[in-house]
Amino acid sequence: MIKKITAIYGMHDYLFPKTLLWKNIENIIQNILNNYGYQEIKLPILEKSELFNKTIGENTDIIEKEMYTLLDKNKNSLTLRPEGTTGFIRAIIEHNIFYINKRFWYNGPMFRYERPQKGRYRQFNQIGIEILGLKSPYIDAEIIILTNNIWKKLNITENIFLEINTIGSLIDREKYIKKLIFFLEKNLHLLDLKDRKKIYTNPLRILDNNHKNIQKLLINAPKLKNFLNENSIYKFKKLCKILNFMNIKFTINDYLVRGLDYYNDIVFEWKTNNIGTTNSKTICGGGRYDKLINNMSNNKINSGIGCAIGIERLILLVENMKSIKLEIKYLVDIFLIPMENNHILKKILVIGELIRKNFPKLRIVTSYLFKNLKKQIIKANKYKSHFIIIIGQKEIDNSLLIIKDLCLKKQIIIPENKLILHLEKIF
Ligand code: ATP
Ligand code: MG
Repeated sequence: MIKKITAIYGMHDYLFPKTLLWKNIENIIQNILNNYGYQEIKLPILEKSELFNKTIGENTDIIEKEMYTLLDKNKNSLTLRPEGTTGFIRAIIEHNIFYINKRFWYNGPMFRYERPQKGRYRQFNQIGIEILGLKSPYIDAEIIILTNNIWKKLNITENIFLEINTIGSLIDREKYIKKLIFFLEKNLHLLDLKDRKKIYTNPLRILDNNHKNIQKLLINAPKLKNFLNENSIYKFKKLCKILNFMNIKFTINDYLVRGLDYYNDIVFEWKTNNIGTTNSKTICGGGRYDKLINNMSNNKINSGIGCAIGIERLILLVENMKSIKLEIKYLVDIFLIPMENNHILKKILVIGELIRKNFPKLRIVTSYLFKNLKKQIIKANKYKSHFIIIIGQKEIDNSLLIIKDLCLKKQIIIPENKLILHLEKIF
């Protein structure tokens, strides 16, 4: 008995027609990004581990427990990227392309060793959007408006809501964290073991614990918003005004802090209650990371903002809401069927190539099997074919072709040299 090898836990294959939906969603997003002048950047999936260790924050979930790290044959420590921004900044610094363009996007798989559940996998895909070197709140607004336009195009605006917050500067947060720790220490008995550990490692993450008791406790906790510098408050208010002006609904969530250390000022999440999980899930999260480039190089660029859209969660939402209609009545436009002998296969081959050349968008499938016509038609139907073209010796002798519409069950015979003309009328 041969032992079946299965996919890795938390990593999935995606089959047709889900792949079709996936492509559709990607195309919609990429067209919108193109419309705003963003350029694609392709990045490696594997990076040096130190890249993530130095930038993401040693007490974040990602660094503490989620990284897929391995040694290569030379004992170099490498990590499958858990997120895109750090690799993106690494590439931007390496190629020094700040001054050519400021708006970028990338698309691809990320890896996190998490506990898999609906909408949470160990390999998942993100489309990341990043803007460098621009500080204005209008830029923060642009990213939010752009993502809002994506939801509009996907018909999910009713199923997705925006939460925003400002987390100020690092100095503001340090001051605040001291007070927060003091408060949490006084209420240690109300925290579970996990949160107790976080007090001295990543106390801000306790703020986004959704548990009722924690939320109740936090009502009396010091608030980050009371520790923010004036500039951060000004920029946040300005962003709120722009969003109101653009009719984009949002709520301010004082507890929204995001998972990674490198954020400052504006943070935001687009969330949904409609992907079939008990808690709301974030579809797209992002924020400013003005200090990240400085931290990674001597470069003077001191502003950046970005967000990442989780593609699998977005697909779950679109599927659940049935918000996109896919045309899958036919999967094949023309199915070519040879009758009788080998000589006919050559004819089939030539006709297939001719149609494809004249109609590059049509889906033409050629059968190279000799089965009786009935069986071949059953197969063409299984493939969800619209038309079949049948070629036998008699047709070759008379330079004719049989074309049958499998839906209307209508058949006509045409001269071979009228084929393209005839197809032009149909398609
Ligand atoms: P969560 O709080 O749900 O763990 P996160 O804050 O870790 O999310 P980000 O690092 O901001 O997520 O990633 C951006 C987006 O990527 C998320 O909003 C989500 O849509 C998607 N994402 C993150 N982790 C996963 C995962 N393990 N599986 C599927 N999608 C994910
Ligand atoms: Mg996470």
